[in-house]
Amino acid sequence: MEYSEEEFLSIAGLQHFAFCRRQWALAYLEMQWNENLRTAEGHILHENAHDSFSAEKRGDRIISRGMAVFSRRLGVNGVCDIVEFHASPHGVPIFGREGKWLPVPVEYKRGAPKENDADRLQLCCQAMCLEEMLLCGEIPKAYLYYGETARRTAVPLDEALRGKVAAMLSEMHELSRRKYTPRVKPAKSCNACSLKGLCLPKLCRGGSAADYLKKRLEEFS
Ligand code: SF4
Repeated sequence: MEYSEEEFLSIAGLQHFAFCRRQWALAYLEMQWNENLRTAEGHILHENAHDSFSAEKRGDRIISRGMAVFSRRLGVNGVCDIVEFHASPHGVPIFGREGKWLPVPVEYKRGAPKENDADRLQLCCQAMCLEEMLLCGEIPKAYLYYGETARRTAVPLDEALRGKVAAMLSEMHELSRRKYTPRVKPAKSCNACSLKGLCLPKLCRGGSAADYLKKRLEEFS
């Protein structure tokens, strides 16, 4: 199956979906976004990583910034902070350069490495887009760079991670098609949620407005 461009979802949404399905739906289906320090810092780091598309050669690598990527099979598009092209027999030819070059995405994140898969899923999705777009061999690993540690970490792009990306995107497409925002599931992560002020997890925990009205009417009947 292939998705049309109108159905494409943002790759960046994967990390929000992995964090909380409701947060993703509020931000990407309902187009609500609440800027806070955490997201603002993230934006600044991203802007430094890709002001606009550019490419340069450093040693045995070609560094491309702000490269747009998409996948019809997964139904996603987005922009890679950095794609490094490494000399490799499994790579693809590049106009004006000798040899073959394998694309390796590098994603910039504020803060320290997370325990959950959110960043790895986004990075893996970028790599899957590059494989489909450029018809290159499988990209075995990619990198996450964290602002807090100023170090980058290699992420193996194994079958388990690739399967998780595909399954999650299929669920996102289903929710997007139904325009459905999942209900609140209060969790510890709500404290760090940039949409807490819009989601109001404590208020929503009490049930829907319809349930509230029904209860009040029952009290008076
Ligand atoms: S406040 Fe909690 S339930 Fe609401 S969107 Fe954020 S993480 Fe999800």
